Amino acid sequence: MYKVGITGGIGSGKTTACRVFEVLGIPVFYADTVAKEIMTQDVLLIEGVKTAFGDESYFEDGKLNNKHIAGIVFNNEKALAQLNALVHPAVFRAFDAWESTIPATVPYTLKEAAILFESGSYKLCDTTILVTAPYEIKIKRLMQRDGVTEEQVKARMDKQLSDEEKSRLADHFILNDEQQSIIEQVLALHQQFLKLATAFKSDNF
Ligand code: ATP
Repeated sequence: MYKVGITGGIGSGKTTACRVFEVLGIPVFYADTVAKEIMTQDVLLIEGVKTAFGDESYFEDGKLNNKHIAGIVFNNEKALAQLNALVHPAVFRAFDAWESTIPATVPYTLKEAAILFESGSYKLCDTTILVTAPYEIKIKRLMQRDGVTEEQVKARMDKQLSDEEKSRLADHFILNDEQQSIIEQVLALHQQFLKLATAFKSDNF
């Protein structure tokens, strides 16, 4: 099935854009949410985490010991890369399982991931969308949504690739600047993806 990847910096509005696609009947795989869920569900991943970071990575009731893991990977690039090398394949497995449940009548699916480009998972998508918003608007949204300070938002932003770097890799764009309609932009992209998905289907028949 034709796969569209969608990403954007924190507060850009990628989840908001995905909700519009969902209204149009397009199923969305929220990779970041799934990544959190599978930490306590995917047996291979759990075993890998315990081997890499110790049995204390999980409490006796099976819950993840976030504090323990964060303590190891915080400011330790090698350990973070090791964790990502365990989590990313597990997310791919979850995506494949999810996609296999999607009816053939669905024209295409959307995969939302904050680190679509950073993780390399964009290579498994047929096309990609980058959602952008002006810096000041993103700061305002996140301070409101998460009740955090401007400095805390900036620290989170600094950990991500810049929009300039991401836009070099993206195929389509949504500008969520609260001036241009996000609904109209999604509708226009949806029309393009329907055509692309039809061509993809006939090429792969
Ligand atoms: P994150 O990566 O941090 O989860 P995101 O890119 O998924 O962020 P959203 O959660 O969609 O961004 O949006 C961030 C906040 O901004 C939300 O509270 C959302 O309701 C609000 N928001 C997004 N787009 C708009 C808009 N066009 N007008 C008003 N508010 C908006």
